[in-house]
Amino acid sequence: MEILRILGLKPLTDVKSVLCVQPHPDDNEVGAGGTLTRLAANGCQVCYVTVTDGRYGGSDQTVSADERVRIRQAELRSAGEIVGVSHHYELSFEDLGSYSEYEVMSALIPILRDVEPELVMTVDPWAPYEAHPDHQKVGRAVAAAVLAANSLIKPDCGQPCTVPMIAFYASAYPNTYVDVTDFWDAKLASILAHKSQFANDEWPLLVQYFEHQAKQYYGAMQMAQGVAEPLSEGFAEAFKVLSPRQLHFFPAALHM
Ligand SMILES: [Zn+2]
Repeated sequence: MEILRILGLKPLTDVKSVLCVQPHPDDNEVGAGGTLTRLAANGCQVCYVTVTDGRYGGSDQTVSADERVRIRQAELRSAGEIVGVSHHYELSFEDLGSYSEYEVMSALIPILRDVEPELVMTVDPWAPYEAHPDHQKVGRAVAAAVLAANSLIKPDCGQPCTVPMIAFYASAYPNTYVDVTDFWDAKLASILAHKSQFANDEWPLLVQYFEHQAKQYYGAMQMAQGVAEPLSEGFAEAFKVLSPRQLHFFPAALHM
């Protein structure tokens, strides 16, 4: 689309550094594990920010919340090794806690100014039926931080920096598809590395759901590429990619 070129948005797969901010320790893999693995394999620096400690995730009531935090920290590292994550930031807000969007934005600004990523990725907080407060607050805080990092706020937290692109996964309004067929097995392995969340009887059903969704995205990708008879033989992930300019006073962003 011409407007994307005007806004300076390059192909998602060409970026050399990405900061991927997740509410919980497993969101990045579920939303974008194939794309992140593909980027890392191409030499892109992949950094993770995990906002909450995930202390209330899963269904195992035999371990304490503190123990669950430690288990999930180890799983976060294991999944990150599969993806190729080079650095982890953990903000350790309480899972489902009363922290504010402003607090998360404030914590992210110095990280953004330090890393200066070409791309910031996070969950889409504006998906119509997204009811999880952590996903709502974190997605919005990331978008706000991308804007604020280039302002004069917090002059003691690094030099203002421009983030060229933001990509939301789990979006109801995707405008970009990434072929992750060659990285599908790695994506599933990275998700399953979160054993406390996924190593249970529901996993085979979840895989079916993930694969169904990814095949639909693959077909949508081919349609967007003008393929006459789209196939659903491969797997793709979907994103809403925007320029920071589209994050403020730009209602048309919904349809772009
Ligand atoms: Zn989550």
